[in-house]
Amino acid sequence: MVPIVYHPRYNITAFGLERLHPFDGRKYGRIRDALIQRGLRRPNDFIRPAPARRYELAKVHTPDYLGSLWSSNVLAGILEVPAVRRLPWWLIDWRILGPMRLAAGGTIEACRLALEHGLAVNLGGGFHHAAADRGGGFCVYADIPIAARLLHDEGRLRTVLVVDLDAHQGNGVASIFRGWIWARILDVYEHNLFPLHKEPEDYPLPVPPGMTGSDYLEVVHAALPHVLDEVRPDLVVYNAGSDPFDGDPLTRLKLSANDLVDRDLLVVTEARDRGIPVAMVLSGGYSALSWKIHADAVEALLTRFDRA
Ligand SMILES: [Zn+2]
Repeated sequence: MVPIVYHPRYNITAFGLERLHPFDGRKYGRIRDALIQRGLRRPNDFIRPAPARRYELAKVHTPDYLGSLWSSNVLAGILEVPAVRRLPWWLIDWRILGPMRLAAGGTIEACRLALEHGLAVNLGGGFHHAAADRGGGFCVYADIPIAARLLHDEGRLRTVLVVDLDAHQGNGVASIFRGWIWARILDVYEHNLFPLHKEPEDYPLPVPPGMTGSDYLEVVHAALPHVLDEVRPDLVVYNAGSDPFDGDPLTRLKLSANDLVDRDLLVVTEARDRGIPVAMVLSGGYSALSWKIHADAVEALLTRFDRA
């Protein structure tokens, strides 16, 4: 069975303040519930991660940045919710940062499990706008680089490739990876979106707003096999944002829910056909249907890759 990492505390609720952000703070739990309802997993099958610890965060983030997270003002900026300024730091830490450290721990766990089992999914994480010394775009902790750095330092992987198909550029991951010759990123993103300043990347693939699913899948299909063969990574971390969805309020790509299922199957299958382990994380997705898109995609992956 493909390991699925999840913790009930991934879901972000802060006395209604979460509704000031377009993000569905309960989508992780909805995906987990759907997988159970569909008979794909039992409640005890989900692997509960430990939160990312201070020394793990410090593998990537600067001490000044981690210290700045005690400030409600700094966090209000990163989370794009000005009302967070009025919350005391302990409440933010309990209701927002704690869940994010758990999700970051989930990405670390999913990467470890992927190396063992070939494929693992974290039903959260993918905070790809977080850089070493700053957060942004709702991303506080750079979970993917943290996980990669830990496993690299432990000698468990020599090279890693991030395949980032969230509609926004993974500028945080790219900025951290620029100093690491063993870490590469292939990134398909809508070119006029946040972040305004794009980071240089190994394999940047900007696409225009309005692009349909068949054209988009063509772009991925033309690039991914070649990049996998060139990099030959020991691990692919797949940042499977659902925001290229037609109907996502923050983007203008036109993928259907079925296109997104096909996309996730394509990425995981191309890597697994080469024997490359894949850790999938969920990243962005701001439509009310985001949870269902992920649930459908994970169902398709389990149908193809679960073995009794
Ligand atoms: Zn996004």
